[in-house]
Amino acid sequence: MMSENAGIPTLSPSKITAWLECEHYLTLKNRQNRPKADKPVSEQRDDSVKDDKNIEITFPSPPENYSELLIEKGLYHEKECLKRYKEEYGDLVLEVSDKQKGESFKAWVERVGNPFESNKYQVIFQMPFIHDGIHGVADFLERKDYDGKTVYEPVDSKLSRTGAKQGHLLQLLFYAEAIEAISGELPREVHVLLGSGGREPFRVSDYWWYWQRLRKQLKRVLEPASTLVTKPEKCSYCPFCEFNADCYQQWRDEDSLIFLKDSNKSYREALSEVGIDTLTGLALLPQEFLEDLLIENMEQGNEVTEEEVLEAVRIFSNDDIETDFETAIQKWEIEPECNAENLVKKWSRESPDISVDSLVKLWRQARLQKIAQQTKKIHIHSFSEREMAEKMKEKEEGWKRGACLLHLPELNDHDIYLDFEGHPFWQVEQGLIFLFGYLEKREGEWKYVAVWAHDKDEEKEKATELVDFFYDRFKNNPGMHVYHYNHTERVLLVDLLNSDDDPMSSILSVFGHAIGQSPADIHHLNELVEAGVFVDLLAVIRNSLQAGTESLSLKEMEKLAGFKRKGKIQKGAGAVVDYERYANADLYGIDKDEELLNGIAQYNKDDVDATYEVHKWLLQKRNNNPDLPNETLPIPEEDYKSSAAGDVEKISELQEQIVEKILGERNGN
Ligand code: SF4
Repeated sequence: MMSENAGIPTLSPSKITAWLECEHYLTLKNRQNRPKADKPVSEQRDDSVKDDKNIEITFPSPPENYSELLIEKGLYHEKECLKRYKEEYGDLVLEVSDKQKGESFKAWVERVGNPFESNKYQVIFQMPFIHDGIHGVADFLERKDYDGKTVYEPVDSKLSRTGAKQGHLLQLLFYAEAIEAISGELPREVHVLLGSGGREPFRVSDYWWYWQRLRKQLKRVLEPASTLVTKPEKCSYCPFCEFNADCYQQWRDEDSLIFLKDSNKSYREALSEVGIDTLTGLALLPQEFLEDLLIENMEQGNEVTEEEVLEAVRIFSNDDIETDFETAIQKWEIEPECNAENLVKKWSRESPDISVDSLVKLWRQARLQKIAQQTKKIHIHSFSEREMAEKMKEKEEGWKRGACLLHLPELNDHDIYLDFEGHPFWQVEQGLIFLFGYLEKREGEWKYVAVWAHDKDEEKEKATELVDFFYDRFKNNPGMHVYHYNHTERVLLVDLLNSDDDPMSSILSVFGHAIGQSPADIHHLNELVEAGVFVDLLAVIRNSLQAGTESLSLKEMEKLAGFKRKGKIQKGAGAVVDYERYANADLYGIDKDEELLNGIAQYNKDDVDATYEVHKWLLQKRNNNPDLPNETLPIPEEDYKSSAAGDVEKISELQEQIVEKILGERNGN
């Protein structure tokens, strides 16, 4: 029998997935869902159904933003799956009637009743459930007969192409549980219909214990009297979370270390152990304290020269930074717990788990960001030549090993500045790189060239032509390079898709993916990569400097380079949405608007123009820095090789130690 626990708010499976990422999510949800005094929970209007499926198989509206685009694509995929079921089973597919306007979820569930009883449907589409405090709408239920028993198994359609995610499986396990509550039969399997067209089954018994354990935890968290204290902690779900604005504001109000560039969770925990929970607290650690730590760290087992010590304690590359920090301090009210003396004492007592080098880098970043906050001045701290050289030794063999200011090539008239735009869900089954845009110098002027590809054949053809073009250009002008700026934003879009097979996260993966298996093209691409023709300016920046900004995105760096955008589209996601409206206009019953392509091209042009400006700015930074050579240093091949060989040695030593340890533990030593 269907049940709904009185006093416990219902949660959709997608909300449970959110909780898996973040405990604080349910605290906020719980607070929001507290029953109003005059109505029992079960009678309240359930608005959260909006973010589950409330499917209308009609003409979809063109998306206005990236979230809408993903919803539309998900619905489209579902519609196609339904079509296939209908082709196979005809009238044996039951389409459950939609939730009516103003109808509560509970009333909908009651109206739908128990369609399993009749035993006549092969597939049930859009079956709503409320069971034990959770509600949800199963995409499909398929009838199966095992040993004379009939059972319905839940099947969800998901956009993911490579495989189901943890959240998908949990949703399905909830449906399995709800089906058992109604029919008395627990499904043996649950299934995911992937965006790639594949089908992934899971045996319920393999995951049941996990689901049951999760259930218990959820109940505890959701109890109205729950005393569990949670706080917002940044995670991969935050950008999509309905409480994002609230948590963001809370972090701002608390001066949280979340905003400190390069601070990850383990760093924040280590700092918190010694009472440093704010940017201010970290920035206020006295410079002398950091200097002492640095020297102590260097001296451990080493002969250290005076010169090395002096270089180590020259914590900022520019004296103005220290002066401006003093000015910034005067401008902000400092909480008593940020007393530097207490922090230092606590630090010495607790010895938090963070390396001195990492601490110095974070501390420097905190100071740079505090200066920017208080004085609006964005300072750049440049790493020393030795630091950059060390960083390069750490790089794996490959195209990024010369990525720092020391090896950044000078401008060359044969250079190319390149960027691309891709639509990860051009079709449910596959994405498309639809625009390759670049700057090249023609008759003394930098010109923008847009190369469009509106289907997979064109994508391959254009990518191949571009690789050939770069290859010929390189052969004729060995000093040329192809500059680009890898986008963190693009990676975020890919995360949104929940898809692991993304070919769009870097320039090289784009070409590698698009040109396919042609040996000649792959050979040319590899030769260009080996020769260091591709230069990722984001990697150069990361390995060369720190800036008083919360990120090193192109949008932030171009401002420092004095570049102003001309286009209306401000984010990569905007270009994807516009391309969707253009390329899939038929799907939405609208006309193809060529103007959309012009807007996208302008956005892409802004990106490549900005990449060019950032390159010039970086060279200027190098040339104006008296501590750096004002020329491009060759990449020291020998150093690199010996360092790589050293790494191999270290790794095999470590492997031996690990094996010894494991054997020791097994033998009870
Ligand atoms: S925004 Fe992030 S921290 Fe806040 S509730 Fe959502 S997932 Fe949790």
